Amino acid sequence: MPDATGSRSFTKASARDAEVEGRRVLLRADLNVPLEKGVVTDDTRIRASLPTIELLRERGAGVVLVSHLGRPKGPDRELSMAPVGTRLGELLGSEVKQAQAVVGDEVAAIASGLEAGEVLLLENSRFEPGETKNDPALAEALAGLADLYVNDAFGSAHRAHATTEGVAHHLPGYAGLLLEREVVELTAVRDDPQRPLVIVLGGAKVTDKLGVIDRFLGFAEEILIGGAMCFSFFKAEGRDTGNSLVEEEGVESARQVLEQAKGSDTILELPEDLCLGREFDADTESRLLNGVDVPEGWMGLDIGSNTVANFGKRLARAGTVFWNGPMGAFELEPFAGGTRAIAEAVAAAPGHTVVGGGDSVAALQQFGLADTVDWLSTGGGASLELMEGRELPGVEALQDA
Ligand code: ADP
Ligand code: MG
Repeated sequence: MPDATGSRSFTKASARDAEVEGRRVLLRADLNVPLEKGVVTDDTRIRASLPTIELLRERGAGVVLVSHLGRPKGPDRELSMAPVGTRLGELLGSEVKQAQAVVGDEVAAIASGLEAGEVLLLENSRFEPGETKNDPALAEALAGLADLYVNDAFGSAHRAHATTEGVAHHLPGYAGLLLEREVVELTAVRDDPQRPLVIVLGGAKVTDKLGVIDRFLGFAEEILIGGAMCFSFFKAEGRDTGNSLVEEEGVESARQVLEQAKGSDTILELPEDLCLGREFDADTESRLLNGVDVPEGWMGLDIGSNTVANFGKRLARAGTVFWNGPMGAFELEPFAGGTRAIAEAVAAAPGHTVVGGGDSVAALQQFGLADTVDWLSTGGGASLELMEGRELPGVEALQDA
């Protein structure tokens, strides 16, 4: 249940308030899970979708479930939803019917025969070229399968696709429990955080995170920057970056951010030391650098221990922490230390802690710390866009409460 702050920030109709008994519900979930040889290797997103599926079943709805999986350009057997349906059936402890297509007469016939509490999983929505084009004809065909629409796919809510946005123009649309909770949790951090607010950003590309930096410069007390994105800042300062991954497109923006930060009340912290490698490889020669001018022939692959201590001290006194993006190449064990230490500092922080999706969530899981933060977002791009203050089309299209 949303708290008082949250209820104010969430203005859309909730699936909790929908009358679904004896009706069919088209449920858009985010079941975009990793597969290996036709088996689901991480079922986090399927589990995160269970509460809404179970709510609808318990209340006597027939559930027509749809999601995208990967990025197929058309039908692609490797990206069939079949393994997802199998895993979902195991988790629900009951049969999940599987359609061989997204829409069409055969699918419509199975959907119309759904009994209360039954679940029909449609094929991968991206098998239909109209999905990403938000084709009104596809939206209408999808709408024809059900009486109501529930969107629980927060991870896709920043995209206006047929299953996330278009269909809501043809059916009364409600927010699923996960989508609602995501919006409430992230909006609370964005608009009404416990102070001081500390934003930690890392990862590969500074341009992905510029919108968030823009939003929080002058609003957050502190912004801490690690990961490869710090090299766009160092380059903007005229430092040597060696062979480090520098996103050239971001250098000019980084320069502007540094300029703006000077005149704002927000403290912007960059690394003060680094862990270097010869190349992006776990077996590469490595060394510590006390400073941030990267010599020729080396690349910065992680933050150093002085940086960890500085960031850690700031996290320990934060009222709210929002973290998105690893501090280094955490997939390579010799360069995982900075991200692990920051993950531990976030886990131990007494303030309210929220971690944005993607690789930061993968890092927390890798370190066994996923349960220690207050909110772990299932949406990477969607969580960043919400934090930037942009409207999410998949949320906007739903009915107002
Ligand atoms: P998120 O998904 O959490 O938003 P990104 O996708 O932006 O994060 O970035 C994650 C990637 O950034 C990881 O694959 C990681 O290896 C890479 N990365 C982080 N720091 C460095 C670095 N110093 N050099 C090269 N790659 C890095
Ligand atoms: Mg990523």
